[in-house]
Amino acid sequence: MATLFQLQRDIVEAGRRMYARGYVASNDGNISARIDERRVLITPTGVSKGFMKPEELIIVDMNGKVLSGTKKPSSETFMHMQVYKDRPDVMCVCHAHPPYATGFAVAGIPLDKCVLPEVIITLGHVPLVEYGTPGTEELYKPVVKFVKDFDALLLANHGAITFGKDVLSAYYKMETLEHFAQIAFISQQLGQMNILSSEQVQKLTEQRSKYGIRTDVGCVSSEGETSCGNPGVKDFLNTDALSATEKEELIKEVTEVVLRKLKKHE
Ligand SMILES: [Zn+2]
Repeated sequence: MATLFQLQRDIVEAGRRMYARGYVASNDGNISARIDERRVLITPTGVSKGFMKPEELIIVDMNGKVLSGTKKPSSETFMHMQVYKDRPDVMCVCHAHPPYATGFAVAGIPLDKCVLPEVIITLGHVPLVEYGTPGTEELYKPVVKFVKDFDALLLANHGAITFGKDVLSAYYKMETLEHFAQIAFISQQLGQMNILSSEQVQKLTEQRSKYGIRTDVGCVSSEGETSCGNPGVKDFLNTDALSATEKEELIKEVTEVVLRKLKKHE
């Protein structure tokens, strides 16, 4: 287990990177790390995460009660504590407002398309969690149903949260999420997002266990179905769930939408 000194150093460094990359503005965002079964180290409120000093971090108990530190702990301490209770494997929680990922969260679009191998392996799909008022217990309520199965979540009209086995792994998931959101945004601007087939996705999810990543986190559920609901286009059209007329109708509808969009851009 990492020492308190290491955890302080890692949180300060993750905060510095988060601020430097524009994932937070002003004093936004928060990072915490589990010290042991009883204590958690968390960032203070009202301090820029880019310029924190190790001694400014606060130690709280599992109920969020301050055990040591002169500043007030993050206003989202409750959310962090709940994640640690619901996910015993999680050692660090990162919360930020990275612009592209938050853009998707504001637009109400989950990042659940299976398009990038690295993202499928490290994150799986990223669901969109419905809105809850930040700084209140309401923020966590909608998170509950997702926290056990995912390592990265979009918080509607707010930002993103990632979990990891240590500080850097949670922080890197935030980086991967934002990078994915940026690429997804660009491919949508280009007018095409090619989705990997369920077979290709399955091969990638098999690799997760090799890297020690929880196998039940990702695009493929325990039944082997793509939980993202986005099987390859080919698979979708080959499905027996739709009749020939329905397939024809669907293709017509999609073509019309695409043509309308192309016309708009002319
Ligand atoms: Zn926030």
